[in-house]
Amino acid sequence: MIGKVLGNRYEIVEKIGGGGMALVYKAKCKLLNRYVAIKILRNEFTNDEEFIAKFKRESQAAASLSHPNIVNVYDVGIEDNIYYIVMEYVKGQTLKELIKQKGKIYISEAVNISIQIAEALSHAHDNHIVHRDIKPHNILMTEDGRAKVTDFGIARAATSTTMTNTSSVIGSVHYFSPEQARGGYTDEKSDIYSLGIVMYEMVTGKLPFQGDSPISVALKHVQENVLSPKIIEASVPHNFESIIMKCVKKNQSLRYNSTKELLTDLRKCKVSDEGDFIKLDDAHDSPTRIIPAVKDDSNMINNNKRRSRQKKTNENNKDNKNKRFITIAAVISALLVAAVLIGMFFIMQLQDFLTVQEVEVPDVVGLSDDMARQKIESLDLKYEVLGEDYSSKYEAGFVMEQKVEAGDLRKVGWPIQVIISKGQELVTVPSLIYMLESDINIELNNIGLGEVNIEYENSDFPTDTIIRQSPEPYEEVPAGTEINLVISKGPEINTLFMPKFVGRDIQSVKSELAALGLAQGNIDYDTSDEYAEDIVIRQSIPANTEVEEGEQVSFIVSLGSTQPQDTEDDPQDGEDTGGDTQEDPTEDNSSIEKSRSLVIANLPTDKETVRVKIVKITSGESKVVYNQVHNTTDAPFSVTVSGTGRAFFTVYFDDEDHMTREINFEEAN
Ligand code: ATP
Ligand code: MG
Repeated sequence: MIGKVLGNRYEIVEKIGGGGMALVYKAKCKLLNRYVAIKILRNEFTNDEEFIAKFKRESQAAASLSHPNIVNVYDVGIEDNIYYIVMEYVKGQTLKELIKQKGKIYISEAVNISIQIAEALSHAHDNHIVHRDIKPHNILMTEDGRAKVTDFGIARAATSTTMTNTSSVIGSVHYFSPEQARGGYTDEKSDIYSLGIVMYEMVTGKLPFQGDSPISVALKHVQENVLSPKIIEASVPHNFESIIMKCVKKNQSLRYNSTKELLTDLRKCKVSDEGDFIKLDDAHDSPTRIIPAVKDDSNMINNNKRRSRQKKTNENNKDNKNKRFITIAAVISALLVAAVLIGMFFIMQLQDFLTVQEVEVPDVVGLSDDMARQKIESLDLKYEVLGEDYSSKYEAGFVMEQKVEAGDLRKVGWPIQVIISKGQELVTVPSLIYMLESDINIELNNIGLGEVNIEYENSDFPTDTIIRQSPEPYEEVPAGTEINLVISKGPEINTLFMPKFVGRDIQSVKSELAALGLAQGNIDYDTSDEYAEDIVIRQSIPANTEVEEGEQVSFIVSLGSTQPQDTEDDPQDGEDTGGDTQEDPTEDNSSIEKSRSLVIANLPTDKETVRVKIVKITSGESKVVYNQVHNTTDAPFSVTVSGTGRAFFTVYFDDEDHMTREINFEEAN
C-alpha cells in the first residue's frame, strides 16, 4: 500500500493502525498539500455488497458533520476494489492509549474530555446521526488536549452483518448499552450509555464489566448494575458520580433524555460540586420494587372497606350531626374574628404609609453593586437586585439599569430595583476553515455573531471553501462581533504574451524571464552569420503567443559567425558563398574522428559537488557528450572529446553556462 496513490491525489505514506474493520494509513493529499488519514476497509468485507452499501451511506452521512470535536471526514471513495474514507489526520494518541499511559485521568481533565465528547455527540444527534460505537479507541486526543470523536455511524454498517465474526469489533462490547447487547432498538441514548462507561473508565482506570467472553460481558451489561466508580476511586466528586450513574442506567428512560441535558450537568460539575443537582430515579431501574403500584392497590382496598362500613354506621352519623354543626359554627366565628384583626392591621399599616416621608431616588446606573446598595440604603430606600443581563456598555458587577427613574420621589422603604451587568456576552467563534461558502449560514445560525463580511482570493484551496477567518476559530469574542471570511476563488492562473527574445542578449533575456515569471528551459548554442555571439537566434515559443505564468522557454543562442572575420572595410565579403564553403570551419575535412582533451581547470568552490555537462555544437546540431557529477575537489581534470573538423564545446556547471571552447580536430594536437 505504501506509495500507492488513491483517487489520483492521496499518496499513502505510512500505516498508523488498524481495528476490526479497517486499516488506517497516513497519506498526503497532493492537491491541498496536507496530511490526511485514510481508512481502508479490510478485504474480507469488500465482497459483502450489503455491507459496502451501508458503509458508503454511513460514511457519507458522517462527512456532513463538521465540529471541532469530531474528526472531519473529507472524502469517500472506491478504487480497484479498495474502499476508503479520507479524514482529518489527528496527531496525538487515542483516549484508550492515554488511559493506559496514565492509569487514571484527573477528575478535572476527565470532566473536560467528557464535555467535549458530549458536545460532539450533541452535534451528531442534532443531525440525526447516532454513533453506536463510542469507546476510548474512537476518541483521538490531539497534542494540545482536544478530544475528537471518529468513526461516526460506521458501526451501524458493521452491526447487522459482520460483528459476530470479527474479534476486534466484538471488543466494543465493553461499552455496549444493554439494548445493544440484546440486539434491541438503539438510539441517541445508547451513545449516552457508552459515554457513561468511558467516563467510568477515565476516572477509575477500569471497566465496570469484565468477562471471559464477549457474550458474558454483554450479559453483564443487561443483567448487572454498574457499581459506583467511588468504590474504586474515592476522590470522584459526588455529582460527577451521579452523572456517570445516570448515563449507565439500564432503563433508557432513566438516562439523560439528550446529550444537551447531560452537557448542562457536566458543565455545572466543572464549576463546583456543591449541592445535589443530578436527579437519579433509582427506584425505576429495578423491576422488583414497584412500590407505588402496591400502594395504590392497598388504597383501593381500604376505600372499599370504608364504603361497606359506611352503610352500617349511617345511624350513628345522624347522632353526630348536631355535634358537627356546633363545630362548624365555631370555626366560622373564629375566621371572622381573624379577618377583622387582619383588616385592622392593614389599616394601621396604610396610615403609617401615608404619613412616611418621601425621598428623591438617586441615579445609581454605572455604580458598582456595593456602591449602589450603599447609596440607596443611606436614603432609607430598599435596594433590590432584580436580575442580571449582558451589557456591552457596563462592566460585569455594575448597575446597568434602574427600574425607578432617578429624580422621582418615593416613600422611605420603597424598593428600588436594579439590573446588574454580566459584562459583555462572549461567543465562541466556530472554525469555518475548509467549510463551503454555502454552509456558512447554517454554521453561524443562532450563535450570536454579527455581520459576515466576505472577500474572495485566489488560493490552492478548492473553489468556494473558506481559507481564513477573523476572529480566529475558538476565539471568545463579544456577541455581535462581525466575522470576516476569505473564500477561495481557486488557484490563480496568470497569463502573459510571450515577448520577442530573438535578437537580444541572452544575459538580459535570462533576467527578464525571472521578472516575468517564466521558466528557463534549455539553452543551446549554434553558429550564426546573422546574429552576433550571445544573441538569441531562436525561442521555443513564438513571440506574442499567450502563455501561462511558469511556462518554460528554451533558446538557441548564437556562437557568432563561422566565417573568418574579414577586415571591417569589406563587410560584403560574406556574400561570396564560394569562398565561404571552402573556408567553412565546421565542414568535415575528414570522416575519421579524432580525440582531444578538454581541460576543466576549475570547479566552483562554494559547493561540494557539481554536475559537469559538456555540449558539443557542430553546424546546426548540439549534443550532450559528457554529463557527470564531480566533487569540486576533482579539478583540474580533463575530458576526452572527439569529432571531425571543427566543433564548439560548451561546459555547464549545474546547468549554468561556464565556458565555450572551440576545437579544431584537424589541427595537430
Ligand atoms: P474499530 O474497528 O472498532 O473502529 P479501532 O477504533 O481500534 O477499532 P480504527 O478505527 O481502525 O480502529 O483505528 C485504528 C487506529 O488508527 C486508531 O487506534 C488510531 O491510533 C489510528 N487512527 C484512526 N483514525 C485516525 C486519524 N484520523 N488520525 C490519526 N490516527 C488515526
Ligand atoms: Mg475506530
